[in-house]
Order: sequence, then structure tokens, then C-alpha cells
Amino acid sequence: MSETIHVIGGGLAGSEAAWQAAERGFQVRLYEMRPGRRTPAHETGGFAELVCSNSLRAEGLQNAVGLLKEELRLGRSLIMEAADRTRVPAGGALAVDRDLFSKHITARLENHPLVEIMREEVSSLGEEMMILATGPLTSEAMASELHALTGSEHLYFYDAIAPIVEAESIHWERTFSASRYGKGGDDYVNCPLTQAEYERFLQELLAAEKMPAHAFEKERVFEGCMPIETLAERGADTLRFGPMKPVGLVIPETGEQPYAVVQLRMENRHGTAYNMVGFQTKLKWPEQTRVFRLIPGLEDAAFLRYGSLHRNTYLCTPAVADPFLRLIAKPNVILAGQISGVEGYVESTAMGWLAGVNAARLISGKPPVVPPAETAHGGLADHVTRSSPSSFQPSNINFGLLPALRSKIRNRRLRYEAISARALEAWRTFLAGLETDDRGPA
Ligand SMILES: Cc1cc2nc3c(=O)[nH]c(=O)nc-3n(C[C@H](O)[C@H](O)[C@H](O)COP(=O)(O)OP(=O)(O)OC[C@H]3O[C@@H](n4cnc5c(N)ncnc54)[C@H](O)[C@@H]3O)c2cc1C
Repeated sequence: MSETIHVIGGGLAGSEAAWQAAERGFQVRLYEMRPGRRTPAHETGGFAELVCSNSLRAEGLQNAVGLLKEELRLGRSLIMEAADRTRVPAGGALAVDRDLFSKHITARLENHPLVEIMREEVSSLGEEMMILATGPLTSEAMASELHALTGSEHLYFYDAIAPIVEAESIHWERTFSASRYGKGGDDYVNCPLTQAEYERFLQELLAAEKMPAHAFEKERVFEGCMPIETLAERGADTLRFGPMKPVGLVIPETGEQPYAVVQLRMENRHGTAYNMVGFQTKLKWPEQTRVFRLIPGLEDAAFLRYGSLHRNTYLCTPAVADPFLRLIAKPNVILAGQISGVEGYVESTAMGWLAGVNAARLISGKPPVVPPAETAHGGLADHVTRSSPSSFQPSNINFGLLPALRSKIRNRRLRYEAISARALEAWRTFLAGLETDDRGPA
């Protein structure tokens, strides 16, 4: 294996990965197909172009994405350096001047003595140390290569994401645990609706505001991934024959079948978050809060992640990669960014950071690392490598991906701050260990 690390894709993840590897003293070759070959969303040839919003979302340690950004800053992230230098006023969020942001990153990479930039599309994966960071709009040639390597059942082109609710915000007394016809024990939490509650919910769902689709997204959506509101448009009872089907379920107190039901499934091993089964949606975020809080038991629901549906190329990482995100079929390839099953600019950057660190370690004969589970980086890595492959869905960072605190804190803001404090302590220790280890012999 040569001493060069090959990074494919100069987006958020690839730029960060290339920077981390080069800063550790390794020669990096960074491949980016733009501007010669475009994606349906990028408009420039710059690195780390933000394809949609110019916001890297909330700041502050009461937010999981604020914590993730803080960890990246401590890890000397290039993307965070650019974001902090090019920020524009945005209240409690970190928004940037997208043009200056991309120009800063491009200049830093172009001027790094160890980074060589190749403006070309990569269509096959060789035997060298590689980081694959081709993103949600991976070129067709690379998608075919991945298809051949991992099998079609492990490569997806769409996200159909259902909302996730924080366990502590659910009114458990209004729900009951049971699986349909008693099959599978008490795995599902059921929110029963009366006829009047169902009709009100349907009315508000149909009237709610939806996100517009990008032109290149107006393609066929699989029947199993239909947005809940599209199903609702088909008829008053369609949801009752689909995701809100009440058959096989009985309310324990009354012994009766509910008129309709919303099922929640545990989202993580810690039991701190629940997924709304079959509730993928294109409703705008505030509308999801308003309409889904009409569901009995969810009146005060705190949404850790909102539902969405969009074009996204990603792998079923828990099935095709090892705990260090190396492809099982080709262990010289490390996955990074959105293709690994995370969602969002900051999350993609974080997975790029980790890939850059691990590629540098591996090429110098050191074992790869997994960040501690208590950190936001660790939570994301855990999600993409240890989720059940059969129900794997891409995820934003949220506190539900981190283990619960040992002691209960009822106030949500204080609870999140305590989780963040614990995370930063673990992250600092992890970074200090890495630094000592990186200086030592292989
Ligand atoms: C339309 C759209 C809107 C989005 N909006 C948001 C948003 O508002 N906020 C948010 O947080 N997230 C958003 N995302 C999600 C996502 O976080 C971003 O797309 C993010 O840029 C992903 O980072 P990445 O590095 O994995 O991929 P990208 O940033 O897309 O980088 C991948 C790079 O690889 C290049 N490439 C692809 N194939 C090849 C190849 N074969 N050879 C060489 N180069 C190649 C591409 O040109 C691109 O530059 C959006 C995604 C899409 C598709």
C-alpha cells in the first residue's frame, strides 16, 4: 500500500477528512469531479459547497448539533474554522456566507503542501487507502461500483425518514404496549385514537404545509416509503388500513379495539427515543410538531428528529462496514459523510473527521479508533455501525443517540447540558489519548 491517502469527494466530509489526514503528516490526493462533472444540486466547483440552507444549525450545548460542532472545534476541524470565520448573524444558529465559507476551505486545501487536488470523477475503488465521501448525490458510475461491491439490497437512493420522539416527553399513561395479534411481545408502544380524534388528525394532516420537492426528486417513490400525508390524500380510511391500522390490538382497560392507532418503536438500545412507525413525511418541521401533537400520548412530544423524504444515496453501513466504517468487501475503503448513513452538513463533517483520523492511523500501522459512546461523534458512529440493518435509517445527531444519564434530570434543558458536559469530558480525554498515541511509534 502506498503512503498516499486517496479521498474521493470534496464535499463537507471529504474536505474535512483530507485536512485531518494531511495535518497528521500524510500525503493526500483529493478527487472532486466538479466543475467538470456536475451533480443535480451543486452549482460551483468549490469544496464543501452547501447545497441548500446556509445554516449549520443551532449553537449551544443544549442542542446535540451544538455539541457536535463543539467537539469538531476541539478536534481542529477545517469546516468549523471556516464556519466561525465566515459566519453571518442568525440568532442562536451558526449560519455562514456560503461563498466565503467554500472559498476559505478551497484555499486551505489548495495551499496545503501535502494535499494534491485531482479534478476528476472516480468510478472504481482501487487497492490504496481510500476514503469514500461522494455524498448523497454520488455519481452514477460510483453508485454502480458500490452496487457491485455491496449488493443492491444495501445501497439506497431515497430516504424515507419517520420522526423520532424523546421517550421522556411521551405521556405513557395514554398508551399501551403490545404487538399486533400478540406477535413479538410488547415491542410496540401504541397511541390509540377514537373516531373523533382520528378525524381531527386527518383534517389537520391534509391541511398542513409541505416541503417543496427539488426538480430532480420528482421521481417514483416506492409504495412502502409513501409520505403519510400522501396516503391520507387517497381516502378517509387509507391510513386506518395502513400505518394506523388498529386490527389485532386491544386497549387493556376496555378490552376494545381502538378506532386507529399510531405505533412507536424503540429507536435505540438506551430506550431514550422512539420512532413513529410508518410516519415518513414531507410536512414542514413546525407543522410536524403541531399535527403530530394531536396524537394521544404525544401532546407534549419533543422531536429529536423530524420526518423527511428526499433523494439520498447511502449504504446500509451496519451490514456492509466494520465498526471503523471500513467496507467489509474492501477494507482499504473507509466510508465518510452522508453515504455512511448520517444526515446533515455537520454530521457529514464529523464522519469525515473520523475517517481522516483513522486513515492516518491505519496507514502508519496503528489500530483505528471509535470515539467514546458518550460523545456526539461516538453516538453517530454507533448509529451507523451498530443499528439493526433491517430497520437502518440515516440520522441527524440527536441526544437519543447517546446513553442516558445515570441520574434522572427532569428539566430538559438541564438534562441536555449535563449530557453535553459528560460528552465534552469524554471527548477531551479521547483527543488527548489520540495525540499521545499519534506521536508514539506504531
Ligand atoms: C438537495 C439537498 C439539500 C440538502 N440540504 C441540506 C441542508 O439544508 N442542511 C443540511 O444540514 N444538510 C442538507 N443536505 C444533506 C447533506 O448533509 C449534505 O448534502 C452534505 O453536503 C453531505 O456531505 P457529504 O460530504 O457527505 O457530501 P457532499 O457535500 O455532497 O460532497 C460529495 C462530493 O463528492 C463529489 N462526487 C460525487 N461522486 C463523485 C465521484 N464519483 N468522483 C469524484 N467526486 C464525486 C460531489 O461532486 C461532491 O462535491 C442536503 C442534501 C441534498 C441532496
